[in-house]
Amino acid sequence: LGLGPLPFSPASAVALAVIDPKATEPEVRQLVEDLRHRQLEASVFDVGTGVIAVTCASAGEIDGLVDGNPVIERVLVPESRYRLARRDVCPTGTVVDVGGVPIGARPFVVIAGPCAVENRAQLLAAARAVATAGAAVLRGGAFKPRTSPHDFQGLGLHGVELLAEVRQVTGLPFITEVVEPGQIEQMYGIVDGFQVGARNMQNFELLKALADQDKPVLLKRGPGATVEEWLLSAEYLLVGGNDQVVLCERGIRTFNTHTRYTLDLATVAFAKRETHLPVIVDPSHATGDPGLVPPMALAALAAGADGVMVEVHPDPEAALSDGYQAVRPSDIGPLVGQLATLAAGLGRNLATRSGVPGGS
Ligand code: PEP
Ligand code: MN
Repeated sequence: LGLGPLPFSPASAVALAVIDPKATEPEVRQLVEDLRHRQLEASVFDVGTGVIAVTCASAGEIDGLVDGNPVIERVLVPESRYRLARRDVCPTGTVVDVGGVPIGARPFVVIAGPCAVENRAQLLAAARAVATAGAAVLRGGAFKPRTSPHDFQGLGLHGVELLAEVRQVTGLPFITEVVEPGQIEQMYGIVDGFQVGARNMQNFELLKALADQDKPVLLKRGPGATVEEWLLSAEYLLVGGNDQVVLCERGIRTFNTHTRYTLDLATVAFAKRETHLPVIVDPSHATGDPGLVPPMALAALAAGADGVMVEVHPDPEAALSDGYQAVRPSDIGPLVGQLATLAAGLGRNLATRSGVPGGS
C-alpha cells in the first residue's frame, strides 16, 4: 500500500488491528489517516491473508480503536516481543509458495539435495534421486558458510545457475543459501527461495534486505538462539514486508556430543502453536548422522512440522561438505515412502512438485 512501516515507536502500548479482508485499499488508507489524526502512529503490513495496521497507542486508546469502524475486523494486543509472527495475527496459518510448492498447507513437504553444489554431474545425480523418491523441492548450497576457511567454499553464482539448469531437467524448484545482501539481486531472478543459514539468523542487514523482496525465505534457527530470538529474526522479515517465511529447526548446541547438535522437537510443536509461519525440520544438521535422519524426519512429521529438509549425496564418501551426514540416493526413496505412510495415518499427504515430470 506504500504506507511504509514506522521503524520504531516508544509508545507504551501496541495494538494490531486486523483489517477486514473485504476492505478496499482506499478504505485502509483512510483508516491509517484517521488513526494518525488521532495522534496514533499507524503502519500497514501485509501478513498472511489479511492486511494488518499496527498502531502504537496508549492502553486507553486501544479500547476505542474498533468502535464503529467497519474496516477493522478485530484488535489484538500482543503479549510477546514478536508481534507479526504471532499465530493470532493469521490463525489459519501462512502458506509459503516455493516455486509452486505450498509449504504450510496440509501436505508435508520433503526438501532434499546435497549440502553443496559441487559440479553438474553430482547435482544432477542427487536431484534425480530426489525427484524419483518423490520429494517436492531441491536444496543445494552455492554460497557456503564453512566453519573452516580451509574447507570447500562453494561454487558461488555458478552453483546457483547449475541449480536452475537441473530444475529444467527434473522440474524441482530449489532453495539455496544467501550469505550477504549483495548477492540477493543476482540470485533473485534465478532462485525459488532463499535460505538463511543458522550462522546468519541474526544477520539483521541480510534479513532487512530479504524483507525488501518477495521470494520465500527459509530461516534456520541459530544453534545458540532462543525461540524468542528466532521469532524476532522472522519478525524482521515480516516487518519489512515479506510474509513468505518458513522457520527451520536444525538442532541446537547442548552438552551432547554423540549427535552433531540436539534436535529440539518440542520447539517445532511450540512454534506451530505460537506462530502462523510454516515450520520445517532439518534432521541432517541436527543429528549429523544419516542413520538418525529417517527416524527424526518421521518424528518431525509426527510433531506437526510442515516439512523436512534432508541432505542427499550421490557419493557421500567423496562429498566436499557434510558427506558424513548425507543420506544415500538408495535410502531417500524408502524414507519418502515411510513419510507418506505416516502422513496418511495422520490424515495428511506429501506435497508433490509442480511443473514437468522429472526424475528420468
Ligand atoms: C546447510 O543447510 O547446508 C547449512 C549450512 O545449514 P546450517 O546453516 O543449518 O548449518
Ligand atoms: Mn550442510
